[in-house]
Amino acid sequence: MAGAELIGREELAEIQELFSREKVNLYRYGGGNYKTREFEEKFASWMGVKYAHAVSSGTAAIHCALAGAGIGPGDEVITTAWTFIAPVEAVSALGAVPVPVEIDETYHLDPSEIEKAVTSATKAVVAIPMWASPRMDEIAEICRKNGLILIEDAAQALGASYKGRKLGTIGSVGSFSFDAGKTLHTGEGGMIVTDDKDIYDRAAEFSDHGHMHLPGLPRGKDPRRAKGLNLRISEVTSAIGIAQLSKIDMILSKSKENKRKIKDGIGHLGNIVMRPFSDEAGSQGDTLIFRLRDRETALRFEAHLMEHGFGTKILPEALDWHYAGVWGHLLGEIDRYRNVDLESLWPKTGAMLRSSICLNIPVLIDERTIENLISAIISGSEITG
Ligand SMILES: *Cc1c(COP(=O)(O)O)cnc(C)c1O
Repeated sequence: MAGAELIGREELAEIQELFSREKVNLYRYGGGNYKTREFEEKFASWMGVKYAHAVSSGTAAIHCALAGAGIGPGDEVITTAWTFIAPVEAVSALGAVPVPVEIDETYHLDPSEIEKAVTSATKAVVAIPMWASPRMDEIAEICRKNGLILIEDAAQALGASYKGRKLGTIGSVGSFSFDAGKTLHTGEGGMIVTDDKDIYDRAAEFSDHGHMHLPGLPRGKDPRRAKGLNLRISEVTSAIGIAQLSKIDMILSKSKENKRKIKDGIGHLGNIVMRPFSDEAGSQGDTLIFRLRDRETALRFEAHLMEHGFGTKILPEALDWHYAGVWGHLLGEIDRYRNVDLESLWPKTGAMLRSSICLNIPVLIDERTIENLISAIISGSEITG
């Protein structure tokens, strides 16, 4: 939850400041547009990138990132079978073919599976860090060797890093979300980051009906070179984003501290397998994943946690929105997947996800709740052992 827990006076003050102007402008491309520019500049500077472009959601952000990178009809885009559904929707909305592959023990796309999936039609790899980093060196090397564009949908991993590099800045372009479950929350909202001027321009154009934002022209006279949609952010959303961004360092350090305490309290348990990391120090703190013997055990464990007042996050409770094996409604319209038993394509991913528990760790969790959570996990491991 993170940022959503901390919505308060600072966000209101930014909105009031917006409304205190002589002429109130809520439109991103209206006269005096400044909250969105400020949000983008601060975000780019915090990420350490040249360009940031704010849009209406995280789904919009990955859609624009893909369009900006030139993904179009017929292109194959390799990604992971465990992700939120949005990046797969965005690939398919562009007429491209999503190619999810199996995850490895870190719960991220397995580099050897990427290699197996590359064909002459493959154009890009979308890495989707789930609160931690995929094996980015190996993935980047495969992309380099095969001439593929590396894209990161880092919606779940704002502030996480790999070998000292912030996730979202390793590939050619990265995207973020500010929905209620993400590190920062603005109601709805998303961001694209890149160092590549051409990708930035094209992504920004896609988010605004193709308007090329050339200086000195009135909006109605903007030229176009590619189609787009309206995926724009509003000034009110950006105002909230500025206040949220000022809280990010606190959010990241506090949630890491919380997670450390919980891991220390349960690390000795023999029958739960903690998720391994490619770079644990760089991982996010607001989510904890571990694995049990099988699906049956995970479901009993979930019920036990519920009895003690703790819900799960995604696994197992929202698996259907995060596992490609059950997305017949989306993949079924693509030739490659028509009449195919999807579950049979990613058996390892399905088995791993169904035997896993994923927990949300609030920023504002207090010591007593941490202790209660630790004892609920310990007693859960006893009854399911
Ligand atoms: C949440 C999420 C999105 C979509 O973000 P919205 O702001 O909800 O549209 C995209 N990709 C991933 C990996 C996500 O977790």
